[in-house]
Amino acid sequence: MKLLEERILKDGKIFEGNVLKVDSFLNHQLDINLLSAIGEELKNKYSDCDITKILTIEASGIGVGCMVAQFFNCPLLFAKKSKTINIKGDVYTSKVESFTHKCTYDIIVSKDFLSPDDNVLIVDDFLAKGNALNGLIDIVNQSGAHLAGCGIAIEKAFQGGGDKLRAKGIRVESMAIIENMDCENSTLTFGTRN
Ligand code: 5GP
Repeated sequence: MKLLEERILKDGKIFEGNVLKVDSFLNHQLDINLLSAIGEELKNKYSDCDITKILTIEASGIGVGCMVAQFFNCPLLFAKKSKTINIKGDVYTSKVESFTHKCTYDIIVSKDFLSPDDNVLIVDDFLAKGNALNGLIDIVNQSGAHLAGCGIAIEKAFQGGGDKLRAKGIRVESMAIIENMDCENSTLTFGTRN
């Protein structure tokens, strides 16, 4: 998506450790028009799928997830991050290693909101190594729902997560794909997939 690529070039800030900060439009302050354009583009890409639920992970997936859900006219469901393991058996749980915080946490989704009748599109702001998506995919699989695919705002392809998922046959559509990122020179290059 040209619009998103241009915005990353204009306002994105590259930090050590392969971190891209996009606080002015995606992760702190949200540019609603840009998020809406992402929602519309994902709706076009998945127009052949009868999506019944958008699934994301708190907190940074919720903004973009809401805008995507609006285009699909379906609920947005977000996995909660939990420090305590829920043993009641009324939730699906999975473990996720955090890219940004370098720790492992449990994610939980209530069994009330995901069932074998659902056709799920997973949405997130970033895709790096794929840990967050793998946790969400695990939860979709536990629920017996069908996974239509994943829709990502920014994929950092050089960290490999997206291509590993594609190699497994999972559909991944990313609105901007970064092939290289250089912190010292503050440069990055975009690529494509499919
Ligand atoms: P992964 O699990 O694919 O390694 O990383 C994806 C998750 O980590 C996303 O949910 C996102 O919140 C966070 N993340 C990964 N890389 C970046 C980055 O460069 N910038 C920001 N702001 N978040 C990132």
